[in-house]
Amino acid sequence: MKIRAAVLEQLAAPLVVQDVELGEPRRGEVLVRVHACGICHTDMYSASGADPSGYAPCVLGHEGAGVVEAVGEGVGSLKPGDRVVTLFSPQCGECVNCRSGKTNICVAIREQQNAGHLPDGTTRLSRDGAPLRHFMGCSTFAEATVMPEIALAKISEEAPFEAACLFACGLSTGLGAAMFRAPVEAGATVVVFGAGMVGLGAVVGARLQRAARVIAVDLSERRLELARHHGATDAWIAGPEIVERVLEETGGFGADFTFEATGNVAVMRQAVEAARMGWGKACMIGVAGKGDTLNMVPRYLITGRQVLGASFGGVKGREQVPQLVDRYLAGDIDVNSFISHRLTLEQVNDGFELMHRQDGIRSVIQLST
Ligand SMILES: [Zn+2]
Ligand SMILES: [Zn+2]
Repeated sequence: MKIRAAVLEQLAAPLVVQDVELGEPRRGEVLVRVHACGICHTDMYSASGADPSGYAPCVLGHEGAGVVEAVGEGVGSLKPGDRVVTLFSPQCGECVNCRSGKTNICVAIREQQNAGHLPDGTTRLSRDGAPLRHFMGCSTFAEATVMPEIALAKISEEAPFEAACLFACGLSTGLGAAMFRAPVEAGATVVVFGAGMVGLGAVVGARLQRAARVIAVDLSERRLELARHHGATDAWIAGPEIVERVLEETGGFGADFTFEATGNVAVMRQAVEAARMGWGKACMIGVAGKGDTLNMVPRYLITGRQVLGASFGGVKGREQVPQLVDRYLAGDIDVNSFISHRLTLEQVNDGFELMHRQDGIRSVIQLST
């Protein structure tokens, strides 16, 4: 079938919205009609050419929500009409990592996904008979996509698409870090560095876990105001004195939990040093640049702090994304306040521009309604 899609023709150039061909779903695959898709830093990072693992041409986008239109042979868990969220981080349930229960990092289709292919090593996207690569196994800057069954989470029929799509990446990453990877304890003191989509997710997660004090740290007053709306009890402008200030306000000990959501390694070091001696957990969820290293003094570990991290917040996508969406439907998460701009597919490059200017938290592309 012919679909409209935003193609990254070459690195460091604007996307070109055009007609491309989408093949039928094969064994273990699902055809999804995309209704809404968030624009994420990872899309922009890959398009910019700065990402060493980026490639072109391909169809970008990985924060999608939509409806199953058709299923390939052997697909048992999804049927036409099901409402789904796309997962760049799949959950096969059968690989050595999934079976361990200890991690959300499924290794079933990693290599093919990184190469821009579906698990069988081919693509369903093409143009003039030439294959066009997928992105993060999703390619949701498009009216429709074909994805592996194990990379789709079936969610409630009641969830609006534009809110649901945010659970495909940044929001779940922050929520998951504070709820699953480093589960915040009731009554705890928490510091969240960075109040973008991921950091705000961690603020919400800390509130849902009933933290007593949630300190949000960011350079932007506007983002800090949003952090307060989502449950931050304190909002501090970022700076070199933050660690000292955390120590001062916690009797010299530090915070029970810190979350780093900026990807800046100097801030990561602050997150380690602001964690409480004895048991503080410092959880890294921001993605650092290639080649960056985290400097820390080993004494921080000897005296009982733990440093950990997570991809996709440690969320096991097929199992836990539907649960997080249910928390939103129950009124626990004000997802709409994260949506700052609504765009058409044709306006995708404007979405990158807004992100570049740090204008708003999330732009959502609205496709078929
Ligand atoms: Zn993302
Ligand atoms: Zn797996």
